Amino acid sequence: MTGNRVVIIGGGFGGLSCAKGLRGSGARITLVDRTNHHLFQPLLYQVATAGLSAPEIAHPIRSIFRRRPDITVLLDEVMDVDLDARLVRMRHNQPVGYDYLVLATGARTSYFGNDAWAAHALGLKSLEDAVEIRQRVLLGFEEAENSDDAGERERLMTLVIAGGGPTGVELAGAFAELGSRVLRRDFRRIDPRAAKVILIEAGPRLLPTFPEKLSQNALDELRRRGVEVLLSTRVDDVQAGQVHIAGRVIPAHAIVWAAGVAAAGLSGCLDVPKDRAGHLLVEPDLALPGFPDVFAIGDIASIKQPDGTQVPGVSPAAMQMGVYVADVIRARLRGAARAERPFRYRDKGSLATIGRHAAVAWFGPLQFTGYLAWLLWLFVHILFLIGFRNKAAVLLQWAYAYIFYRRGARVVFGRDWMEDDAR
Ligand SMILES: Cc1cc2nc3c(=O)[nH]c(=O)nc-3n(C[C@H](O)[C@H](O)[C@H](O)COP(=O)(O)OP(=O)(O)OC[C@H]3O[C@@H](n4cnc5c(N)ncnc54)[C@H](O)[C@@H]3O)c2cc1C
Repeated sequence: MTGNRVVIIGGGFGGLSCAKGLRGSGARITLVDRTNHHLFQPLLYQVATAGLSAPEIAHPIRSIFRRRPDITVLLDEVMDVDLDARLVRMRHNQPVGYDYLVLATGARTSYFGNDAWAAHALGLKSLEDAVEIRQRVLLGFEEAENSDDAGERERLMTLVIAGGGPTGVELAGAFAELGSRVLRRDFRRIDPRAAKVILIEAGPRLLPTFPEKLSQNALDELRRRGVEVLLSTRVDDVQAGQVHIAGRVIPAHAIVWAAGVAAAGLSGCLDVPKDRAGHLLVEPDLALPGFPDVFAIGDIASIKQPDGTQVPGVSPAAMQMGVYVADVIRARLRGAARAERPFRYRDKGSLATIGRHAAVAWFGPLQFTGYLAWLLWLFVHILFLIGFRNKAAVLLQWAYAYIFYRRGARVVFGRDWMEDDAR
């Protein structure tokens, strides 16, 4: 019989659900995360586009579990896991042993082997990324106001987004509104409405995982908002302030990479079966092959459903996996040998917003767009935000932005930007 030490690596959607699901199970849980907060990634684009400030979409993990004496939260980065010795090695703490291990470290931005592009094209995975994008775009407008050179102004007010999935679409729509509506009256020498947002997608349509009708709606809405959408277009190269696509070089002050994800770095140190993007291949009960007490959940895992389709890298999937693994561990702690039923993903539908009054919603046979979809998007995102304070703050911010066409989170801080930009 094994003991009751459970180590969960990652306090994202998967890790948190697992820890919550183990309540009252008798497990002694150690939850390690390299940040002190749980991050609501679906609203990261709102921070990047100055709609919300960082604390509104993040919540301290320690505070979430303040009434759970069975959980010890460690702020640390896991550097390595010794699966044979059952040890988790961290940057600062002494190694911690486990009886059950849950790997829930999520995903990172992937540049498809072109890692040099990372220096010029910002990913959107963390609060730091979101604030960096926001500062870059806002400072572009400031520098354009300072410049007398028309070409330079155009470059400073150009944003290129690579990747036409939900994140790219949401960013493009929100940035288009930033120039055309929010900043419209704030400058004297430049006209923010002249700002360019260019969205590049390698495939033939936007939102490739959504039904075609909804992809078309997203395309029409973005074009109506002035976004230049380039479909079936590959990025050939990214250099400082330049994006190269077939036969064209686009000068751009801000470049955002929303085109690909790979498994989080921790996957690299594990000698277990993986897919091409480093996602850990798991058994039907989400355990690693050959290691029945080690589970991978959420974006770091790769698992197919019985119909052959891949479980998507979305928050409901991570949460369902967390709950499932908590049940498996709970049963084992009670003495059951293996899980009775394999993991099944229940698709609860997909939503993506394009901007004010515009979103697409897909719930099985039900597909709709426009105001209703947008309201539903608002409702769902408020509902799943953690913490009453965050929900209330976000509701207030959105109401303010809606009524006055203003965005509150536009303060630029923390560095000598002129020197930084010159470098
Ligand atoms: C910009 C963006 C928009 C999105 N929009 C949506 C959406 O609208 N709807 C939707 O359903 N999904 C959306 N997603 C996807 C969704 O956020 C992910 O599927 C979900 O977060 C996966 O949960 P997870 O627990 O696997 O990983 P995460 O939530 O990413 O959590 C991983 C945690 O592990 C920690 N960690 C990583 N490495 C280490 C380490 N070595 N040591 C310690 N801690 C570590 C991280 O700090 C993090 O807290 C979006 C994602 C992004 C980036």
